[in-house]
Amino acid sequence: MPLKAQTRSRRRRIAVTLVSGLLPVLLGAAILYMQAGRALKQDTEQIAEEAVRQFDLMLDNTAQAARELLPLSGKSCSDVNLALREQVTRRPFVRSTNLVWDNNLYCSSLFGDFEEKINPGDYTQGALWLMNGNPVTPNTSLLVYRLSEGKKGALTTLDGYHLGNVLRLIGRQTLLLLQVGPDWMSADGKVHREAVPELPVAQSRLTSGRYAFAVEAGFPKGETWRYMSSEYPPLFSLLIFFGVIAGSIGHFLQKRSSSPTHEMQRALEASEFIPYFQPVVHGDGKNWSGAEVLMRWKHPKEGLVRPDLFIPFAEHSGLIVPMTRSLMRQTAALLGPQSARFNEPFHIGINITASHCQDLELIKDCREFLDAFQPGSIQLVLELTERELIEPTAITLQLFGQLRELGVKIAIDDFGTGHSSLGYLRQFNVDYLKIDQSFVAMIGIDTLSSHILDSIIDLAVKLDLALVAEGVETLEQSDYLRAHQVNFLQGYLYGKPMPAAEFISALSNH
Ligand code: C2E
Ligand code: CA
Ligand code: CA
Repeated sequence: MPLKAQTRSRRRRIAVTLVSGLLPVLLGAAILYMQAGRALKQDTEQIAEEAVRQFDLMLDNTAQAARELLPLSGKSCSDVNLALREQVTRRPFVRSTNLVWDNNLYCSSLFGDFEEKINPGDYTQGALWLMNGNPVTPNTSLLVYRLSEGKKGALTTLDGYHLGNVLRLIGRQTLLLLQVGPDWMSADGKVHREAVPELPVAQSRLTSGRYAFAVEAGFPKGETWRYMSSEYPPLFSLLIFFGVIAGSIGHFLQKRSSSPTHEMQRALEASEFIPYFQPVVHGDGKNWSGAEVLMRWKHPKEGLVRPDLFIPFAEHSGLIVPMTRSLMRQTAALLGPQSARFNEPFHIGINITASHCQDLELIKDCREFLDAFQPGSIQLVLELTERELIEPTAITLQLFGQLRELGVKIAIDDFGTGHSSLGYLRQFNVDYLKIDQSFVAMIGIDTLSSHILDSIIDLAVKLDLALVAEGVETLEQSDYLRAHQVNFLQGYLYGKPMPAAEFISALSNH
């Protein structure tokens, strides 16, 4: 597999794994966040409703006292004083009662005769005034209820202590305020006149349908996350679990789709494996007696990839068989039409791996290949490397028998680097030995290698096998080989592996 492509795809794999793992976690967290927001909003709405209900009940109590006292307005204070005090005593939330005549407070449950001007404008909707204290109890807030009819008037006050209690007890976890006109009371019972504070999370405002006040409930900043971390730990664990599962699946799928096997499967379907042709010449060095078909991967990004970088993966995954089949079909389609130009049988060498010889499919492949040429115009040679010997089983022996019947010849590739025995060469009816290029390279350099080369040549002569020398690069090598009766030569000296078009156009010169 090309290295650059490997690192790139590894980085992409890590990124996709991270994204597929994080996505469910983030999505789940966003849903939980919205869910928490909804739960908190429901909370504040309920709390505001409950607070309004409580304040309405208290004001009912206070208003009732005012209604009972209103008819007494105008009577002399000494006559009604007892009635004023009775209301204070009988009603739990009433702190004081007062009578008014013509906007003049003239009688109080606390002081009896009194003298104070009343300004109706101080009262929200003329009825309610939330204040921080009065001359009697300057530090205790109170809510004054005003009832008037013509010149008659009654004022009853509700102790701020009770209001503060409601705010504290109902809104234990919440920020809760009571607002009357421009004034508002916090849970500590203090009355303020500055702007009402912002309640950033789940703010709910509810106005009483019966009295001139409103209640506001909400939470401080960050409450949603606090709520989530206290209420949702099991769900968070579940999210992380899903994240890990999704990440692993992403990783697995990525790995599968970017594995060498998967990538080669794709390349095979895209016909990216193409044949190159290297000429094989007669001992005389002029005429081409044939060619070896060598596979190349025309990778869309990496360019032309050498076979030793991908053939091992192809052999390992078993893809080598369909890849070789495709190579044979392409070769047949390219060279078949050239049949008429071959005066004597043109040798076409195809590299075959041992795994291709495990069944009789190879017979079909060879027959199909031969059918593309005019009869007798070519000689198909299967090259089997000596490093990977084929086991003599009933099937392989049958296979090689049928190949022979078809007229297909067998060459042992890289000869001298493996361990084939005389028996082996006979058993499979070998026709050619291809001398490995490492021996050819040592001609004139290393005497020991030259001895091995000489013994290979002797052996071939004794066994009546034809010899092909690979990797011939210099005239010295070719002279030596020719002098030793090596029948066929192959190497850069005569031509490098080349694409089909170049090979076909060069054919006519040779
Ligand atoms: P091989 O079958 O021994 O092929 C000969 C290799 O030697 C080729 O390398 C060829 O380009 C190279 N060669 C030819 N003449 C010279 C020369 O004068 N000097 C030097 N230094 N090298 C020369 P290539 O094409 O890179 O193929 C490498 C190996 O990949 C092949 O070795 C063969 O084992 C394998 N291969 C190539 N195509 C196929 C195929 O279709 N199927 C299978 N199973 N294996 C293949
Ligand atoms: Ca070969
Ligand atoms: Ca070889």
